[in-house]
Amino acid sequence: MLKKIYKAIKKYDTIVIARHIGVDPDAMASQIALKESILLTFPKKCVLAVGTGGAKFSYLGALDKLEDIDFSKSLLIVLDTPDKKRVDSTEIDSFAYKIKIDHHPFVEEFCNLELIEDTKSSACQLVLELLYQTKLKRNQSIIEKLFIGLVSDTNRFLFNSDSSLFSFVSKILKEYSLDLPHLYQQLYMRPLHEVRLQGYIEQNMKVTENGVGYLILTSDVISKFSADVGSAGNMVNNFNYIDEILVWLMISEDKKNEIIKINIRSRGPVINTVAEKYHGGGHKFASGARVTTMEEAELLIHDLDRVCDRYIQDMEGVEE
Ligand code: AMP
Repeated sequence: MLKKIYKAIKKYDTIVIARHIGVDPDAMASQIALKESILLTFPKKCVLAVGTGGAKFSYLGALDKLEDIDFSKSLLIVLDTPDKKRVDSTEIDSFAYKIKIDHHPFVEEFCNLELIEDTKSSACQLVLELLYQTKLKRNQSIIEKLFIGLVSDTNRFLFNSDSSLFSFVSKILKEYSLDLPHLYQQLYMRPLHEVRLQGYIEQNMKVTENGVGYLILTSDVISKFSADVGSAGNMVNNFNYIDEILVWLMISEDKKNEIIKINIRSRGPVINTVAEKYHGGGHKFASGARVTTMEEAELLIHDLDRVCDRYIQDMEGVEE
């Protein structure tokens, strides 16, 4: 499969690299690193990394505008996105050939060639494998970006139990001298107002009977802390390992887009099947959803509570 992807990259002079809406470091690092690698290998190609960016991730590089290309002669590579509706790009169907490279559970087929490995840590790990197993070239800057993406998606290797990833990281560290403190600083540096918002969440989080921790962040609260919906939702990553909490979620009101964005995490119960009921999806233990009313958000909390209840009962059954 990796060789087939390489052949397609070699064949097309114009290549567009897209990823999911709601950019995150893994999605953006994988697309910019792949773009740099293709240009390093084939300097004459036109390669565009597209989608809405975020000032927060500008250290990963700049994104391109999708213009002045003949889609019917171009290759589209979609990274880190299991379904067509979440691709942050237009004209998907106009491309001559489409490739998907993803580590989410399968949702739907919408590309000619699909590399889906949901046991892999990140889109960046899949791009790394592509670079190491084909003739695509790599350099320090490309490897640094891919390292940042995989560190981000594994939460500094917290969620990774795959020995092949550790072997890969060891190989990279032998080959390139990465300044890890500097890279971590780029990824994790945040303004004081975000830390204050985290404190607010810690103080006000509610917990249901069966261990669902949640907080509704209204637009007013988000503005009071000078945060935005994206950074408020990202706080969800900071609440692992709390005795009383098995599943936790941030419910952020996005008044401008008339939507309520929900970020969900779990340290046991499977949550993506619940997220799917609420216009969402994702991984077993890291999912997201979108609803339009607080009543729907409450139903989602209720469903998650039931999932936790079943999980607790199953665990008690195992212990007996
Ligand atoms: P996040 O909380 O935004 O970091 O998302 C966690 C995981 O859930 C990622 O794999 C996302 O791609 C996925 N995800 C988030 N929101 C949605 C959604 N509305 N629909 C499908 N998948 C989602």
